[in-house]
Amino acid sequence: MLEGRVVKAAGGFFTVSDPAGVHFTCRARGMLKRDQAALMVGDRVLFEPERNVDRAVSAEGVIEKLLPRSNRLKRPPVSNVDQLVVVMSLKEPACDWQLVSRLMVLAEQEKLNAFLCLNKTDLAAADEIDRLINELNPYPYSIIQTSVVRGSGLEELAEKLNGKCSVFAGPSGVGKSSLLNAIQPGLTLKTGTVSDKIKRGKHTTRQAELLTLVGGGMVVDTPGFTRLNFFDLGQDHLADLFPEFEPLRGSCGFRNCRHISEPECAVRREIGKMLNPIRYQHYQYFFDELRKQEAF
Ligand code: GDP
Ligand code: ZN
Repeated sequence: MLEGRVVKAAGGFFTVSDPAGVHFTCRARGMLKRDQAALMVGDRVLFEPERNVDRAVSAEGVIEKLLPRSNRLKRPPVSNVDQLVVVMSLKEPACDWQLVSRLMVLAEQEKLNAFLCLNKTDLAAADEIDRLINELNPYPYSIIQTSVVRGSGLEELAEKLNGKCSVFAGPSGVGKSSLLNAIQPGLTLKTGTVSDKIKRGKHTTRQAELLTLVGGGMVVDTPGFTRLNFFDLGQDHLADLFPEFEPLRGSCGFRNCRHISEPECAVRREIGKMLNPIRYQHYQYFFDELRKQEAF
């Protein structure tokens, strides 16, 4: 039996990639077969390759066992994802730091590592970029700067994708598919343009697929978190999804401090010091949004 990873699912067949990157078209055995929904793209599985009369392995096989998942995303529906790459452009469209924080909260909720990729650095002057990045300091996520036009930062991005399974996220037009295509020509992300959505029809949900990178990693072919509302998140848990608050846990005057208006709040005391004021503003904004949601 071989270990492999489901990279594509369609019509009851699963494409399984073995560690060498060889693809097998597989059916699922027994329990797995009865409940087709039991298997999804991203799953690690044990499978038995079929052999022809000469006992040589053919490109087909049967999935025998589903191995435990480290996580499971709903949108896109993929399991065992390692990291979220949040892509933002400096201009055209302009940076939206609040959206970045929203995506980071969603990543924390799904227990994904995340980093920020600031693209289109060719459209801004160096001092302007420095000023923007300084505004974000101290920042709990690593930031890489890229320009597809200048070909800069691409090696650093490729290195971060190496050996991991990544999902890209960010507004349309920031350069997600251009970045991937620059790293590996032909590897275009299926970004959901409006015309694509109309062509596909509103109700067809397309299966996600894993694309293999020559460097050894994988990327999900469709951008993550197309839905930007927080789900199943109580306002009391929001602070847990801001990793920079973590060292201050237990330091507030009130044990159940929400860091909004309580006296002796260690978090509010650190704004402008250990904590970035912009990040705290996002915390306040999301807290308020969750309070309104809970009021319904
Ligand atoms: P996506 O919707 O996030 O996948 O964005 P695309 O990859 O389709 O890129 C949107 C537009 O931005 C295209 O016209 C790209 O040519 C352009 N673009 C992508 N990266 C860069 C960059 O680094 N600099 C500049 N100036 N334009 C870029
Ligand atoms: Zn507090």
